[in-house]
Amino acid sequence: MTHHVQGIVARSKGKAIVIEPVLVPDPSHSEVLVRVQACGVCHTDLHYREGAINDEFPFLLGHEAAGVIEAVGDEVAHLQAGDFVVLAWRAPCGHCRSCKKGRPWYCFDSRNAQQSMTLQDGTPLTPALGIGAFAELTLVDAGQAVKVNPKAKAEAVGLLGCGVMAGLGAAMHTGKVTQGDSVAVFGCGGVGNAAIQGARLSGATTIIAIDIDARKLAWARDLGATHTVNAISVDAVEAVRELTNGNGVDVSIEAVGTPATLQQAFYARDLAGTTVLVGVPDPSMTIEFPMIDIFSRGGSLKSSWYGDCLPTRDFPILVDRYLAGDLNLDRFITEIIELDQVEAAFHRMEQGEVLRSVVRFPQTNINAPSEDK
Ligand SMILES: [Zn+2]
Ligand SMILES: [Zn+2]
Repeated sequence: MTHHVQGIVARSKGKAIVIEPVLVPDPSHSEVLVRVQACGVCHTDLHYREGAINDEFPFLLGHEAAGVIEAVGDEVAHLQAGDFVVLAWRAPCGHCRSCKKGRPWYCFDSRNAQQSMTLQDGTPLTPALGIGAFAELTLVDAGQAVKVNPKAKAEAVGLLGCGVMAGLGAAMHTGKVTQGDSVAVFGCGGVGNAAIQGARLSGATTIIAIDIDARKLAWARDLGATHTVNAISVDAVEAVRELTNGNGVDVSIEAVGTPATLQQAFYARDLAGTTVLVGVPDPSMTIEFPMIDIFSRGGSLKSSWYGDCLPTRDFPILVDRYLAGDLNLDRFITEIIELDQVEAAFHRMEQGEVLRSVVRFPQTNINAPSEDK
């Protein structure tokens, strides 16, 4: 059976996205069909549309989603119809050299659905990050669907699927923030603010948010920053040192992806501290450091892929912490929108007006998938 749904498709580089019919096959073998309830709008979706990820147009966008399992393939034993899941773009293969070393959170060969979702004429779609959740139904590998407590709101916990997890994990996993640490976060969009929440959850007692946008610094205060620095008016590195007895922070997190902010993050940390790069740089960017500073300041400079998360381990815990009131995911939702408002949401995201716009699928419309055979 093939399901006919509406999905957000990026047809060609730089062109406005369109809503059009998408054909979704029933799951085979290790796949699952997911009825999407909510999906956040992420910068990566915009990057796909701009051709900045790859040229495999047309793309089915959307990848920060939660929903309910509709059907499972014949090899899927751990999920069943009705399970509430958050979708992940890392589903460890179990066989690559990293999985074999016991480090599945770096898996180099993450699993995706084998069958393609297509346009009506049969053209295969490339799902964004192997997910493609700006559609009422999507097809993913069973390893990408992580069962969590169904009491949680889909529009909040779906955000764990990408940007929020990247930020939380940059602090909790990559930076290994611990009790009493001081942390500085450079860039307070969705990922940076999630890093602030991650630092708070890990017990950091000084959390310094740095940005050049007063609105973002206000979000950062709401999400746990103990201090804010507006880098438009002061030297960010000096300001961080002043707030840490002249020493710098234990962990600095760069969530912008530019040479200038990485340099600030590097010099804002204490001796033997850790700098985490979670902001995604443009491929053309380069940076130059005096080598003696890298040596003599000790510590480490690490990049964080998807917050070095292991979705099957982390999503259920974080959803429980959300339900317990420890993790504030609701504050990340600036607006709830409908599928036809994603293009406008891209624009607001580019203007820095929103932390997250989240598409919520109307439950009344999604119970009527048709079939063509
Ligand atoms: Zn692997
Ligand atoms: Zn994303």
